[in-house]
Amino acid sequence: MENGTPENGSVNGTQTDILPDLSAFDGVDFSNADLHDVVIVGTGPAGWTAALYTARADLEPVVYMGPEPGGQLTTTTDVENYPGFPDGILGPEMMDRFHEQAERFGADARYGTVTHVDFRERPHRLLIDEETPVYAQTVIVSTGASARYLGLDNEQRLIGKGVTACATCDGAFYRGETVAVVGGGDSAMEESTFLTKFADKVYVLHRRDELRASKIMQERAFQNDKIEFVWNTEVIDVLGEDAVTGLEVINNETGETRIMDDVSGLFLAIGHTPNTEPFEGWLDMDDSGYILTKPDSTYTNVPGVFASGDAQDDEYRQAVTAAGTGCMAAIDAERWLQENGRVSPEPARPKTSTHDDPVEAAAARS
Ligand code: NAP
Repeated sequence: MENGTPENGSVNGTQTDILPDLSAFDGVDFSNADLHDVVIVGTGPAGWTAALYTARADLEPVVYMGPEPGGQLTTTTDVENYPGFPDGILGPEMMDRFHEQAERFGADARYGTVTHVDFRERPHRLLIDEETPVYAQTVIVSTGASARYLGLDNEQRLIGKGVTACATCDGAFYRGETVAVVGGGDSAMEESTFLTKFADKVYVLHRRDELRASKIMQERAFQNDKIEFVWNTEVIDVLGEDAVTGLEVINNETGETRIMDDVSGLFLAIGHTPNTEPFEGWLDMDDSGYILTKPDSTYTNVPGVFASGDAQDDEYRQAVTAAGTGCMAAIDAERWLQENGRVSPEPARPKTSTHDDPVEAAAARS
């Protein structure tokens, strides 16, 4: 066991059965790859908070912003439950402020997505956008989660043509129309309420007869005249050639199917899937792909790799909890580096960050 880390191996006994695929590294030349103390993967509240803390700890973090810089909050309107903003704040503006604050202390934010990792030995090897090699002494995974779809063929075909998982992004296109929201959680309540600003009518299609959403969000939706709840109902097909012209739904109690031909927009609000695919086979995950961390920490099963935010949290999933675990990951990474030191890649040493190990630097001078 390395100093200050959990045992290398399973965090809690659950080991993923997917074997790491290293073929993407074939032929990639790491001899001139940059070596960073901390590489942060993802830029939601967790990633930016980890960047802020590691930057303030003088670790010069490099942040790969991923395919959706700012993460899920960039597809949200008002955030009313983040402490410190008594009047609320728009999600995208909040993420801009997180970004700005991290950069103020020296975080190096870069466009690019970490697509492959090799966690066999230190320093860890990463590939950005399939091709650019980077070494990292420590890695903080804060890749968040993405919206889920039903998986119907016509639903997939009509994404962007009337099917969407982002009411904030697309709601304004449905002024005066009738739309349907699928789901019974807080997102479904929030999105359906938001959509009534534009649409004349909003159906909430829920597969049960009881909502999962918090009471306050339920009440807000129940009191909205434009929202109609359709219980025990599932979408089985999405109709339309180039745009949504209706839905085929089934009542799962009676087995009755019917066409809802007044619906021109389908909004999915059925939860999220963690964006952890590049780490499959390396990091222990649960059955849904959420990264498992050692209790009361952000340690994963790989020494020097930490996980924070929605990529490892299927329970709370709030901006403020993500920021909290981002802070924890930064502190864990800083302490881990202090205890375990930095290592050079073998055989050729790459260009390093300005933070050479002081012990190595002293040895080189003598
Ligand atoms: P969620 O709580 O997991 O709810 C997902 C909903 O979609 C559930 O009602 C579920 O039905 C339904 N569903 C899942 N798969 C389905 C499928 N294949 N077909 C039909 N329906 C399906 O997800 P969420 O609403 O996105 O919320 C996630 C987290 O974010 C929660 O912790 C929530 O409190 C939080 N959140 C908070 C706010 C806020 O406070 N402003 C806003 C949004 C989200 P069942 O109920 O039958 O399982």
